[in-house]
Amino acid sequence: MVPSSFAVLNPQTQTTEALFGQPDVPVKVGISAGSIVIAGQRFSGEQIIILPDKPYIFNLDGDDYRGKLKLILNPDGNSFDIINVVPPEPYLAGVVGAEMPDYWEPAALAAQAIAARTYCLYIKEKFGSNRTWDVKRTAANQVYLGVSAESAQVWDAVNKTQGQVLVYKQDNNIEALFPAYYSSTCGGHTENSRQVFGDSFGSLVGVPCPYCKRVAKPSFFFWPMAQFDKTNVTDRLLKRYPKLKQLGDITSIRPDKQSKYGKFSRLTLVKLLGSTGKSDFLRAEDLRLTIDPTGRKFRSTICQIVSMGDKWAFVSGRGYGHGVGMCQCGAQAMARQGKTTEQILFYYYPGSKITRVY
Ligand SMILES: [Zn+2]
Repeated sequence: MVPSSFAVLNPQTQTTEALFGQPDVPVKVGISAGSIVIAGQRFSGEQIIILPDKPYIFNLDGDDYRGKLKLILNPDGNSFDIINVVPPEPYLAGVVGAEMPDYWEPAALAAQAIAARTYCLYIKEKFGSNRTWDVKRTAANQVYLGVSAESAQVWDAVNKTQGQVLVYKQDNNIEALFPAYYSSTCGGHTENSRQVFGDSFGSLVGVPCPYCKRVAKPSFFFWPMAQFDKTNVTDRLLKRYPKLKQLGDITSIRPDKQSKYGKFSRLTLVKLLGSTGKSDFLRAEDLRLTIDPTGRKFRSTICQIVSMGDKWAFVSGRGYGHGVGMCQCGAQAMARQGKTTEQILFYYYPGSKITRVY
């Protein structure tokens, strides 16, 4: 549904193929005999763009988004991909308000805006040219909820940092964007990206974080035991990593590498032993998100693994999320202490600097 009139364009020829003048009327978009059909009208192209008139908002399945909607017919002729084509700033407003409570300190919200802008432009630059889209709207990249995530505070954070991104100096002395990862609550120490995602950037190294404990509630900072049926764990792991099939049933999950931070440590690599006697290794973060894709129970890899009968239990857990880059609760705690956006970002992304790219 579009609250204004809208046009349907062919992106290849840039021609207007149809105009729809009636606002606020639900429009059914589907496929019939291999063609995209909008409100009963067939379009021959493999791609079409729905372009709303002012205020450039459309509603998809109940949620409002800004910008345009691109539909791309898949080769099977039976389905299509939907891509929201949106400029960076309105996109970021829909991310910042989804990733951080809008009542948090303005300095923390601005840090979030710069980190999210950096992350999205890096991903777009690195992967976007080989595919029809730049970033996913889920936590697989960063959460984007469109207009529903926006507020005056969120727009303020996005506008006052307009075009600002983080860069770091590569070995060849050239400054470059990097994937400015961030996560909810690091649990007391952030982690080197290499141990979690396997990539390596000078500004994505671990730093102590005495801050998040001051913002996250104790029941949140320390998470309760998470248990999973062993058969379920084996099923999920073998489905996600077919190379593990040679292990048979997973009979043992042992810490192999960890980052030690004094009183606690983060598992980074685990050794899996199987009923066939074979073994293999897996990054602890991959283990976590395979066993619990939402990450809501198995919240971080700062924990211990215990075998309890027919279940695996993850105990003594701290923090929430992968722990790489900015700790969001830590950013809020720093902002409450009066630290600036720059101080927050340079703390969590050591050696980085802020530059304006547009
Ligand atoms: Zn932290």
